[in-house]
Amino acid sequence: MSEQVYAEIVVDVPVRNVDRVFSYIVPADLFPAIKFGMRVIVPFAGRKVTGYVVGFSGITQVSQEKLKPVLAVLDNEPVITEELWTLARWMKAYYLCTLAQALKCMVSPAVRVKAAGSYTGLWIGFADNQLAQVLAKLNRSPKQSAVIKAAAGQPGLSPKALADQVGVSSATVSALVGKGLLQARTTSVRRNPYPIKPTGIPGPVLTPEQAYCAGEIIRAIESSQSQVFALHGITGSGKTEIYLNVIARALVLGRKTLITVPEIALTGQMVNTFKERYGDTVAVLHSALSAGERYDEWQRIRNGDSKIVLGTRSAVFAPLSGPGLLIIDEEHEAAYKQDDQARYHAREVALQRAKLSGAVVILGSATMSLESYCRAQKEGPYRYLSIENRIEQKPLPQIKTIDLRAETHKGNPGIFSLALLQKIEEKIRLKEQTILFINRRGFSPIVICRDCGFVLKCPHCDISLTYHSDLTLRCHYCNYISPVINKCSNCASEQLRFAGTGTQKVEEEIRHIFPSAGVLRMDADTTSRKGAHAEILKNFLDGKADILIGTQMLAKGLNLPNVTLVGVINADTTLHMPDFRAAEKTFQLLTQVAGRAGRGEKPGEVIIQTYNPEHYSIKAALNNSYKDFYAQEMIIRRELGYPPFSRLIRIILSSTQSALVQSGAFLLKECLLEAQRDFNPHGPDILGPAPAPLHKIKEKYRWQIVLKGKQALILRQLAAKGIDIFESRQGNRLLSIIVDVEPQNM
Ligand code: ADP
Ligand code: ZN
Ligand code: ZN
Repeated sequence: MSEQVYAEIVVDVPVRNVDRVFSYIVPADLFPAIKFGMRVIVPFAGRKVTGYVVGFSGITQVSQEKLKPVLAVLDNEPVITEELWTLARWMKAYYLCTLAQALKCMVSPAVRVKAAGSYTGLWIGFADNQLAQVLAKLNRSPKQSAVIKAAAGQPGLSPKALADQVGVSSATVSALVGKGLLQARTTSVRRNPYPIKPTGIPGPVLTPEQAYCAGEIIRAIESSQSQVFALHGITGSGKTEIYLNVIARALVLGRKTLITVPEIALTGQMVNTFKERYGDTVAVLHSALSAGERYDEWQRIRNGDSKIVLGTRSAVFAPLSGPGLLIIDEEHEAAYKQDDQARYHAREVALQRAKLSGAVVILGSATMSLESYCRAQKEGPYRYLSIENRIEQKPLPQIKTIDLRAETHKGNPGIFSLALLQKIEEKIRLKEQTILFINRRGFSPIVICRDCGFVLKCPHCDISLTYHSDLTLRCHYCNYISPVINKCSNCASEQLRFAGTGTQKVEEEIRHIFPSAGVLRMDADTTSRKGAHAEILKNFLDGKADILIGTQMLAKGLNLPNVTLVGVINADTTLHMPDFRAAEKTFQLLTQVAGRAGRGEKPGEVIIQTYNPEHYSIKAALNNSYKDFYAQEMIIRRELGYPPFSRLIRIILSSTQSALVQSGAFLLKECLLEAQRDFNPHGPDILGPAPAPLHKIKEKYRWQIVLKGKQALILRQLAAKGIDIFESRQGNRLLSIIVDVEPQNM
């Protein structure tokens, strides 16, 4: 009797109540092909769906009549490792997502590219010593002779490169291939996104502070302790150099490193540094790579050719086996939180991954998240390491606030205070550079009718349209674009006002005030093209502009030595967000932006324009005091019972039908209250339902309920149980449920 084998499969369907592993028959002809971690096609509820193979077994509880066969295998090689499968199960438990959602996050889009890259080059098709003879035969065809000479001199050129170099048509080259005088050879090549050679120059000698931190971390790695380090170093304190040192030791010990950075804009500078030090063992993963590059990097990681992986958020799932060191740089960044599907935070995933493989974790930041800093206090589980001085004792920039109310009283209605303008002028004269930071792209974020007060909104979202200088109105949520209108769509008045300030308006005014200054702008609009980020930064670094205007992208990690002035156009945009982290985000942003000034030989200056100069987050940034900020903010968080004093889960219901989502939200509340009876009366708070802060997005209306409690586990159990009850009652598939555990943007 031949033994039947069953594959354990997670099916990719967007329904929570089938979120488990199903058994399928593996037909004999699929046997050699099917492996753990591959994707397959299986029949499910009358349809064909994608599934993930997460195990095999010789027995099944399912009755024979119900069993169905796997229909096809989609991959040539596994896309999920055992380690990632374990992580996926943890994600389901922690983030209350489905297994399929978790697995989807892990499968890099790269694995869809099946072919390896190839390259065709041309070599002469005869022995070297016959060259003179061959050329003599071709003496009546100077073009062909020239091609042969070139091919002999530079073997392996591509047909096009050879033709271009000699200045002949590709037909001439093909003719020689036809005659056998040139031979084409195709080899597989690696598509290398950053072909940078190691310089061989050793890094600088560490400062005593750096050496102490690196030493402590190395000790943990050497003794194979699984330890988390909170590395809190002010901007310009040389955290990257610590990473590089620790990684060097890890390499010697045969441990692999995974390091994440929050933004692609940052990856460029970081990649150069890493590759110059460690060369090809560094693999890079982010979404701006071409599909082929990503595939090849992914393969190198899986094969173990790469010992150091550097990437953005989803690189935390890179398929390197058993990483020994995980580094989350700028750990406080909201960009680490994924905003759809499985709403994971790369930092929490990294911490879990480290637990599984017994690895050391470094959480690095100049403006540590309150949560991490709190866990690094005396009683906390993290080891706290701090660097209090900038490299070479470079002074921190001088920071000044400008009270915009006073500007108004002085009769200055403009975007810029006089003090800021004077400073910019001075810097242009001194040939030093300025960064101007404004948190909004476009020209004007609000278009308002001065007659009836109507604000132009996106037809699909409850979001005001931003006016862009290409005469369009754009929704920054769904990318809706319409030509600018000159009449109010409510009352037909022509008195439309373009209010508020975005990067384009700042650029226009700066060009107007300083017509001879070089100006660059970096925001989502100027960097959509591949390589645009790097190009703008390079031009600025090369001194091709005096002033760089931009959004958040500029705040992080960049090292621009000739920048001696940073101007924050309006610090209040983040401060007034309806988010309990608004003050924290403001402090972080201001500190990070300020940190871009004075990183070279000359000291830096920062001017922060605000209507709230007395706000503690702005004052703390002014005094470069994380501790002041932390003390103040912790008092407020404690009073309001917000994290780190509690945990939050936000449940959002959404639907295209407004009434349906509202009644659904009240039903969900009832279900949660019912579920709560199982917990003690001091169980979590159930807040809401209320319309979500972004009430309508892409035609969908959204209501939310927020669960708040001290114990994460109980909170998750309550949410899971409430949602189960809800699903058994609602029966209406038009409502979708989004569960956001530890939400970042409230
Ligand atoms: P951070 O990430 O902490 O803001 P960086 O890692 O960017 O700081 O370091 C700031 C600058 O100091 C970089 O140009 C770096 O090359 C340089 N640097 C770091 N460590 C040293 C050192 N020990 N000696 C000299 N220069 C250093
Ligand atoms: Zn929209
Ligand atoms: Zn109007």
